[in-house]
Amino acid sequence: MKNDCVFCGIVAGAIASSKVYEDDQVIVINDINPKAKVHMLILPKHHISSVSEIEEIDAPLMGHMIMVAKKIADEAGLKGYKLLINVNKEGGQVVFHVHMHLLGGRHIHIAEC
Ligand code: 5GP
Ligand code: ZN
Repeated sequence: MKNDCVFCGIVAGAIASSKVYEDDQVIVINDINPKAKVHMLILPKHHISSVSEIEEIDAPLMGHMIMVAKKIADEAGLKGYKLLINVNKEGGQVVFHVHMHLLGGRHIHIAEC
């Protein structure tokens, strides 16, 4: 846990969130500022700042995040959706605790960055 990290605060329950799912490795929350009808964030419980910092040992966790996204999307009745990870400031990342966006509910255009 990183003290000044908003998502670590959410994982710890110190910062309120709308939680959709939780297991031993990840939580899923509704995005506070949704950019689609369905906009959730899948985040690992332990702090990793960015995909640019992951190592081989993190590969099962990253795979698990996709499996959870699929399960949540199925439960939400989404026939199609987008999974997006912004990497570093230049890639549009604002919160430096790894998270995967699950976007669905209508056609979404992702702007180039
Ligand atoms: P990024 O650009 O880092 O990939 O996306 C960060 C996302 O986190 C944004 O979509 C933003 O709306 C969301 N976000 C930032 N702070 C909070 C928060 O305190 N709670 C929730 N639920 N989402 C947040
Ligand atoms: Zn964190």
